Amino acid sequence: MTLAEISERCHNITSSYLANSNGSAIVEATKEAIQITRQQFLQEVFTRWDPFGDRLSFSYNGGKDCQVLLILYLSCMWEYFVTNIRSSQYSSQYHQFPLQFLPTVYINQAETFGTLENSIESTRIRYFLSVYESPRNQTSMPEAFRNYLDVNSNTEAIIIGIRHTDPFGADLTCIQETDSGWPRFMRVQPLLHWKLANVWSLLLYSNEEICGLYEKGFTSIGGINSTVPNPSLSMKLELGHSTLKNEFEWEIMHAYGKKEASDEVCVSKLSASDERLLQNKGHLDYYPGWYMIDDSLERAGRSRS
Ligand code: FAD
Ligand code: MG
Ligand code: MG
Repeated sequence: MTLAEISERCHNITSSYLANSNGSAIVEATKEAIQITRQQFLQEVFTRWDPFGDRLSFSYNGGKDCQVLLILYLSCMWEYFVTNIRSSQYSSQYHQFPLQFLPTVYINQAETFGTLENSIESTRIRYFLSVYESPRNQTSMPEAFRNYLDVNSNTEAIIIGIRHTDPFGADLTCIQETDSGWPRFMRVQPLLHWKLANVWSLLLYSNEEICGLYEKGFTSIGGINSTVPNPSLSMKLELGHSTLKNEFEWEIMHAYGKKEASDEVCVSKLSASDERLLQNKGHLDYYPGWYMIDDSLERAGRSRS
């Protein structure tokens, strides 16, 4: 695989999703969400910052939101390449995909789950991410980005997988400057309008490997000492479970590239230490994270964000 090939694959995933006629309310809403993000990338972002230049970077922490946004970003990059470069009148020697690795930044903030670290590593390889990783827990987020910009001084804009339903996310816009107290650059936030259900719908349909903790009842992954599986997904809890069901059976059964319908979800393996941790804490019987589509409960397993 190359970055070009995985970008083309991501484009095929989104095109195939957009072409499906499943008709469910979640799928229809997700198609709309995809189209808005696509327009934002192609018409607002790539017209300001060439995705094949060195002024745009992607912030990545291995979570579901930035993974789904990465799939959309690569999909749009492929579309941009096909419409602007490959089909241009330049001779075919210039028709090569102009990028081999995607500039990415990961701020290692707190003690993280081994499973998440492994998942970041395997996605780094799968999506050809050139990851700048800040030293663990040395500084605040703004300081860590200041350090990033010191060594990547051409970066003008950073893509972020934040949504309106996240803390302090309500008033954000797709493109805006950082706040005071942060180093100056433009924040690019094309996932703001996505609801939890939209994220799961496309991610589960994509058949791309996702972090294994999600299958164990996690819905939002922070530090290892401040995150547990979402309590409202506990199988021991009878109360309220009448409303809990898998809304994504269709996405899973018909996931992209599956030869025949199956209910298997592509998740990464739990690390041995996380397996022990979940066992020791008795955190074993939880429904998968995608059984939770209530945005207001997404962070119920987080004691601090
Ligand atoms: P999450 O879902 O965990 O994160 C949302 C997205 O933020 C992720 O999809 C990913 O793209 C990015 N992200 C989160 N954690 C990391 C990490 N450790 N390493 C790399 N990327 C990460 N807040 C302000 O108040 N003012 C600002 O000007 C501001 N600028 C920011 C610029 C950047 C590039 C980033 C990444 C964050 C910025 N923030 C800023 C903080 C931001 O608004 C969120 O609070 C922060 O991303 C944490 O998100 P979350 O935990 O709520 O959700
Ligand atoms: Mg998130
Ligand atoms: Mg976070």
